[in-house]
Amino acid sequence: MDVWKVIWSATVLPRVKLFAWRACLDALPTKVGLHRRVPAISALCGVCGVAEDSALHSLAFCPLAQGIWASSEIRQCVPRGCLSVAEWFAYCFKLMDDGEMCLFLTTCWAVWGARCKMSIEGEMSPPNQTAAYAAKTCAEAREAIDVVKTAGKSVGAVTSQVKWQAPSDGWLKINVDAGQAGGGLSGLGVVCRDMEGSILSCAAVQMRANWEAPIAEARAVLEGVVMAKSLGLQKVIIESDCQRVVQALQKQEKGSSSFNLIIDDIFSVIPSSLQVVVFC
Ligand SMILES: [Zn+2]
Repeated sequence: MDVWKVIWSATVLPRVKLFAWRACLDALPTKVGLHRRVPAISALCGVCGVAEDSALHSLAFCPLAQGIWASSEIRQCVPRGCLSVAEWFAYCFKLMDDGEMCLFLTTCWAVWGARCKMSIEGEMSPPNQTAAYAAKTCAEAREAIDVVKTAGKSVGAVTSQVKWQAPSDGWLKINVDAGQAGGGLSGLGVVCRDMEGSILSCAAVQMRANWEAPIAEARAVLEGVVMAKSLGLQKVIIESDCQRVVQALQKQEKGSSSFNLIIDDIFSVIPSSLQVVVFC
């Protein structure tokens, strides 16, 4: 099973995906990681003090994590002999349906958040509150992503005649879209694909705002740039169907309107290592 693909296509918040991805790469700032670099720092878990603080310990075995899992609707288990988060995820993904997997990943993210809170503030949230927070965050994200998909369908009717074109070798393409979700909500959708059209990452954000179309589209481009940056991409094409936004970006338009401030934000987010081309 391709754990990465499953994570990137999950209907969860982008920050949950990034977290899950980093956990699989063993790139979380655990004490085992710190100890590797600075041997004087103890590798013992700062919460329970009885085991080494690996990513798997933090998320699955530590009493703090166990308390949250016991309060969660999700039933997960770590297979015998499992040594890494990537192995644990692969095992769980096989047993879970889409909804369970999203809640599982969001709960892992919430467990990590509860640990960080504990180590920074010295305060432990009640495990049932953390589990409930994960369930609520997961449900809201799934709902928002559905709204964006529905909003995208009306736009799709116009744009479907234009076939999605793959980026050339070495480039990735991020398509962005914005739509009114009704009830004073705006939805933004961002999808990153490789040259074969495989989805590497997608995100949807729902906000309580009634933006004019160019502002909503500019916000969607901003989300796209943030995604490219967080994925560590180097060459990306961002495609929007809003000519106003694309022209403003191509001309590096300046101004003090809300629209221009978002355009400024987009440029300020792009790191020097990232090459971005924007077009309609
Ligand atoms: Zn522990």
